[in-house]
Amino acid sequence: TAEIISGTQIRKAILAELTEEVKQIKEKYGKPPGLVTILVGANPASISYVTLKVQTAESLGFHEIQDNQPDDISEADLLALIEKYNTDPDIHGILVQLPLPKHIDDKKVLNAINPDKDVDGFHPVNVGRLMIGGDEVLFPPCTPAGIQEMIVRSGTETSGAEVVVVGRSNIVGKPIAIMMAQKGVGANSTVTIVHTRTKDLASHCKRADILIVAAGVPNLVKPEWIKPGSTVIDVGVNRVGMNEATGKAILRGDVDYEKAAEIAGKITPVPGGVGPMTIAMLMKNTVRSAKIHLAR
Ligand code: NAD
Repeated sequence: TAEIISGTQIRKAILAELTEEVKQIKEKYGKPPGLVTILVGANPASISYVTLKVQTAESLGFHEIQDNQPDDISEADLLALIEKYNTDPDIHGILVQLPLPKHIDDKKVLNAINPDKDVDGFHPVNVGRLMIGGDEVLFPPCTPAGIQEMIVRSGTETSGAEVVVVGRSNIVGKPIAIMMAQKGVGANSTVTIVHTRTKDLASHCKRADILIVAAGVPNLVKPEWIKPGSTVIDVGVNRVGMNEATGKAILRGDVDYEKAAEIAGKITPVPGGVGPMTIAMLMKNTVRSAKIHLAR
């Protein structure tokens, strides 16, 4: 059976490395990395994501501001708030939790973040930098960066490997496909992107040395689509039911995990796979930003 690539364990290692880096930054510059998380309204899922980000930032010794704003904040006021943090010398990362209320234009808000503090990597300038690759890349988007980190730390060969990415979203599918095709460590792959209009999903998946699935459809990938010995990264998070005893949602990925694990060489579980990596990469981007800003 496949080796399990544990996001929980890799996250732990990354956070330990970052703790050291934060110490060094404090010694050298007299202040820690600063992150602000802006939450508009009280969407329960958003609250839980933001809380996790805040707790992780605090555990690393960041200067952390949790800026909660009411549901009815005007777009102009939100833009003004972002401008305040854009010029705040103690803040190196600005994160606006999505989704935003309907009366606010997400795009306008994300585009207002100073690209040099855009630790989510969603600003068009950072998307462009990612496309150029190499030293141009400032903040790789967190979920794709987590995926690449798991591939590298699991010892999977990427150079010349056939990578098939299922999904073409701006936050996962497209950026990870670009990243895997770039020159460099954990990349140099031959990449295919497949999506809802792809004619024969199975035939593409069967060729994959590394199969990255980000569709949001439980059991989309059948065990017989998995190339024996390949590495399978399951990004999907699907709520398929409720555990009566704990009252918590039962989560499944996009891959039929139990059967796939008998065929793949390495596989990520859900939960405990890609999920835990995303916040760790957000922290990594913030540390990187702090180093750049403080050295100026
Ligand atoms: P999305 O809905 O924006 O994109 C899904 C993509 O999958 C689309 O491009 C679509 O073409 C493709 N797709 C959907 N159904 C398909 C099918 N039947 N056959 C082929 N292609 C199909 O979703 P997203 O934001 O990219 O997220 C994808 C999944 O990853 C979701 O389950 C989401 O919850 C999860 N996710 C997890 C993390 C994390 O763990 N940190 C982060 C982001 C997203």
